[in-house]
Amino acid sequence: MGNPMNVKLIGYTSEPEKLPAMAATLTHSKIKPEELAKKSQHDLSAVLKQVLALGHTSIIEHASFTFAISDVSRSLTHQLVRHRIASYSQQSQRYVNLTEPSYVIPPTIAKNPKMKHAYEDTMRLIWEQYNKLLEMKIPAEDSRYVLPNATCTNIMVTMNARSLLNFFELRCCQHAQWEIRLLAHKMLSEVKKVAPVIFKNAGPSCKTKKICPEKKTTCPLYPK
Ligand SMILES: Cc1cc2nc3c(=O)[nH]c(=O)nc-3n(C[C@H](O)[C@H](O)[C@H](O)COP(=O)(O)OP(=O)(O)OC[C@H]3O[C@@H](n4cnc5c(N)ncnc54)[C@H](O)[C@@H]3O)c2cc1C
Repeated sequence: MGNPMNVKLIGYTSEPEKLPAMAATLTHSKIKPEELAKKSQHDLSAVLKQVLALGHTSIIEHASFTFAISDVSRSLTHQLVRHRIASYSQQSQRYVNLTEPSYVIPPTIAKNPKMKHAYEDTMRLIWEQYNKLLEMKIPAEDSRYVLPNATCTNIMVTMNARSLLNFFELRCCQHAQWEIRLLAHKMLSEVKKVAPVIFKNAGPSCKTKKICPEKKTTCPLYPK
């Protein structure tokens, strides 16, 4: 079994709200960008709020955020990497032999002792087979074919703030799959600490746009 999911913001554009604010000011000003750079974040913050309220989110593409994500399942990362406006680096199953069982247990299974036991037995068998294949000199890139979606993995992702807003709209939704939803909420709480203006209203589209793409009228968050 793996460790609990770990999500850390390990890097971001310095002054992540100043650059977008400068970009917003630049578009409506005769002042050159190098002059705008001398202004303080405080002087520029009103513009940032106004422009974001108008939905002109291209300016926040100037701010990028890098996350270290570990002990998540391959199920999660398969969904994550569908977000194309991002950069990824993921632990390779070709170059890393995953000889120790390391897998995520979904809460629906973890809460049922009988089911959990059966699940863990299955994982034990899978890893036995995987290790047998490696012992028989089958390359890791082929042995890994027996590994499950639950297999733990580590990934780094960099997204700009505009792409993150889209990611949060889709994946903070109550109806997104539980593991990527947990990841999205952890990522949102990290970026809110360093870019509170940009991410103040970030979240699922029922919050940001008052629409429910899933049409889940029974959801308690369904927009009134
Ligand atoms: C609840 C849920 C269920 C899902 N179920 C499925 C499923 O069953 N099967 C499945 O295959 N996927 C599924 N997905 C994945 C989904 O279809 C998207 O691939 C994924 O959410 C990435 O979203 P995105 O394209 O907006 O993000 P990004 O790839 O980061 O793109 C961001 C935005 O850029 C624009 N863009 C990017 N690339 C292009 C392009 N080539 N052309 C035009 N505009 C572009 C779009 O406006 C897009 O919204 C699901 C997603 C969610 C949230």
